[in-house]
Amino acid sequence: MAIQLPSPPKVGMVSLGCPKALVDSERILTKLRSDGYQMSPDYDQADVVLVNTCGFLDSAKEESLAAIGEAIAENGRVIVTGCMGKEAEVIRERFPEVLAVTGPHQYEQVVGAVHDAAPMPPSAFLNLVPEGGLKLTPRHYSYLKISEGCNHRCAFCIIPSLRGDLVSRRPDAILREAEKLIAAGTRELLVISQDTSAYGLDLKHASWPWKGGEVRAHMTDLARELGKLGAWVRLHYVYPYPYVDQVIPLMAEGLILPYLDIPFQHASPKVLKAMKRPANEAKVLERLKNWRAICPDITIRSSFVVGFPGETEEDFQYLLDWLDEAQLDRVGAFRFEPVEGATANNLPGAVPEEVKEERYARIMEKTALISAAKLQAKVGRTIDVILDVVDEEGGATGRSKADAPEIDGEVHLRDAQGFAQGDIIPVLIEDADEHDLFGVPALQKR
Ligand code: SF4
Repeated sequence: MAIQLPSPPKVGMVSLGCPKALVDSERILTKLRSDGYQMSPDYDQADVVLVNTCGFLDSAKEESLAAIGEAIAENGRVIVTGCMGKEAEVIRERFPEVLAVTGPHQYEQVVGAVHDAAPMPPSAFLNLVPEGGLKLTPRHYSYLKISEGCNHRCAFCIIPSLRGDLVSRRPDAILREAEKLIAAGTRELLVISQDTSAYGLDLKHASWPWKGGEVRAHMTDLARELGKLGAWVRLHYVYPYPYVDQVIPLMAEGLILPYLDIPFQHASPKVLKAMKRPANEAKVLERLKNWRAICPDITIRSSFVVGFPGETEEDFQYLLDWLDEAQLDRVGAFRFEPVEGATANNLPGAVPEEVKEERYARIMEKTALISAAKLQAKVGRTIDVILDVVDEEGGATGRSKADAPEIDGEVHLRDAQGFAQGDIIPVLIEDADEHDLFGVPALQKR
């Protein structure tokens, strides 16, 4: 029997301007084609028309506005993108019926607008890529990138020179991607960026329509909306700005995981200043206490650099004492490395390699002791665990809400027959070591 394929929506494209705009048009069409859309050579057959505009000169703007007018007259369902997208008000004033306006290089936004205006019927034959995209992680957890680049200039880091300043994704596009990932089997979303707390700054924290309301391009609002989707939501790379306090109640409510990955990198004010770390003036110890008062189960993960140029024994001891007070749950440490191009390389006071090694060993010893005590306190409790691997002998390995994949500890289970990868189950914790927990399912698989 012949399979009746649903017909995919057709997209018309009017491409104006320079070769760069033409390449943008090609990229947009390539993405739409791989999403299953067909191209329409004329206005009549198109379900939606894209006008890629040029705004370089006044004459080019007039030509762009005329092209938008023609597309509206001939088809009526028009999305505007390209250089003139920066002047969205001018376009909307003249053509209020335009469906969406996006700026230059905003490929994801314009493709998202086409998906909204002419949704693709669900069909494995039309959508060549699975709903959740192609993934390198197991099906049950996914990384969700919310921005690219960074506005800071930490002395040991070359990311801003490689990736540029902060560019945030639209919150509705992130949420749509999150929904698709969850529909495709994701049970845990790992929010990543270079600086999650800065999310939306470049968008001036503007709002976009979402599910009959609005969502602001802001970490708190995004975290709240992600939390409503029903998967575990874990925040990585958050800097201790004052407004980070606003996400702690979301953790206490159970909307997002009680887990904060905050790369403090050091504690000595002198070293932090030399590192040019963001939010280094925040009163962190006091705030950790407040966070724990609001959300007693919160897990704080952090990383530290030892042997940064100019770090004295006194600075390092300050860090060790600070860790005694901070009682962080998870700590990663790195020996300072002079990455080519980093401004820190020019700082005086290079720390000899053997001193770095010695400090590294001391910080690891200290944090292992803290971690072991924290994990020991969980013995006898029943906690939720997401299963990463279930073996044929009835054993399984998973993670609690306190454990991000690859970087934190694991929970090793016995008698886990009948459960599957991605299941989230209550586990009675029977034992602990420095990094991992050991337990048994506290419910029988029916
Ligand atoms: S370390 Fe992080 S915050 Fe600092 S410049 Fe690099 S990416 Fe930005």
